[in-house]
Amino acid sequence: MDAEELYRRRIASRFAAFDQDGNGHISREDFTTAAGRLLEEFGVPFRSDRGQALAAGAEAFWQGMAGIADVDGDQRVTRGEFVNGAVKRLRDNPDRFAEIARPFVRALLAVADQDGDGKAGIGELERALRALGVDEHTAALAAESVDLDRSGLVDEEEAVTAFARYFMTEEPGAGTA
Ligand code: CA
Ligand code: CA
Repeated sequence: MDAEELYRRRIASRFAAFDQDGNGHISREDFTTAAGRLLEEFGVPFRSDRGQALAAGAEAFWQGMAGIADVDGDQRVTRGEFVNGAVKRLRDNPDRFAEIARPFVRALLAVADQDGDGKAGIGELERALRALGVDEHTAALAAESVDLDRSGLVDEEEAVTAFARYFMTEEPGAGTA
């Protein structure tokens, strides 16, 4: 398997993470579902500032994703559209992914930040990932790898950077440290 094929497989495996309702395509409903699962996990009401921020972030993330990958404009991103859109457009511009994900990531951290000190702990991030269907092992690895400065806390820049890296290039914890 060459590097390009490996990369495409990794991107394809991320498709399942976005397809929250598992119906075989990515749509607005998946982002709505993700937001709902996070709010439920952390007991944050939808009609609260943090709940509304998460819903707005999820909508912005969907719009950004659709703008990049929904080539035929049917409001659904198929596996093929996701792989091609991600591989061809985002690999050359990972900052673009970071920017479309940022409002969602910021709101996610605020929802997960139970004591409201402005930073979520890595344990809280792990809980958030598991609420989104990430398996226990991967969630633990991902949460740990996000905490670049080993502070035990996750700030927005760390999270956005790690999120883009996780979805666009490599497995968390993979490769040389
Ligand atoms: Ca779906
Ligand atoms: Ca489409």
